[in-house]
Amino acid sequence: MHDYQAPSGLLNQRTILVTGASDGIGRAAAISYAQLGANVILLGRHQDKLISVYDYIEKKGYPKPAILPLDLAHTTAEQLDQLAQRLLDEFGSLHGLLHNAAVLGEITPLEQYEYGTWDLVMATNLRSVFLLTQSLLPVLRQAAAASVILTSSSVGRQGRPYWGAYAVSKAGIESLNQIWSQELKDTSAIRFNCINPGATRTSMRQYAYPAENPETLRRPEEILNLYHFLMGDASIGITGQSFDAQPNN
Ligand code: NAP
Repeated sequence: MHDYQAPSGLLNQRTILVTGASDGIGRAAAISYAQLGANVILLGRHQDKLISVYDYIEKKGYPKPAILPLDLAHTTAEQLDQLAQRLLDEFGSLHGLLHNAAVLGEITPLEQYEYGTWDLVMATNLRSVFLLTQSLLPVLRQAAAASVILTSSSVGRQGRPYWGAYAVSKAGIESLNQIWSQELKDTSAIRFNCINPGATRTSMRQYAYPAENPETLRRPEEILNLYHFLMGDASIGITGQSFDAQPNN
């Protein structure tokens, strides 16, 4: 599946919501889903950055996307329920959901970790993934076989000193993936899987490793095979798994 080559039109007539679609891996994934035929809903904090992704997709002639400016760190369950109703009214069903948005927080010992940063990281990276999934379940259930992809990290598989709330939030993501998939596998056609992107040339990576030469890393556009495989019908029947987008890195 790492060398999976998506056929053109793989995601025709699909509606797919991507969080953190304004930058980095989420931006690249959203554009590639649109290229494969999907109507993409671009969710992110900054409207101006979302508009630039929108313009890019429109200029390429891919299906018209939608923009959803939302700060996931400060969104309530009620706001997300209203969002779900809007999606139901406008699109009828949601075929795919890529939970990608995250923040790094601080790289510092737990002993010195700021309480406020802890809350912000956990709210953005973990709580919002739980709440958004919960709110969107009725819309995901309307699709014949919806795919939900969560985004983990190697520090979510094995804790690493100084990675604090980020590592804990990503361990929580691995757990959420297992629980959602097991709870829903017998009562729905929704599949849940988790991707660890691996070291990728983005601003988050640069912030975490300021001394690293970004040229040594793959660009987001180069790691997307697994994102296509898990979003398309080839992965129907696979649920509750956690994959590496760059297994040899
Ligand atoms: P990035 O370039 O920093 O992009 C993060 C995206 O999340 C941006 O679109 C950002 O929006 C959005 N976001 C952050 N906080 C948000 C909030 N409160 N509400 C809505 N959107 C928010 O990061 P990336 O490197 O592409 O990372 C993407 C995912 O891969 C993350 O889950 C990350 O943990 C994971 N990951 C990355 C690597 C890597 O090497 N890059 C490795 C392992 C895992 P703004 O544009 O408004 O900031």
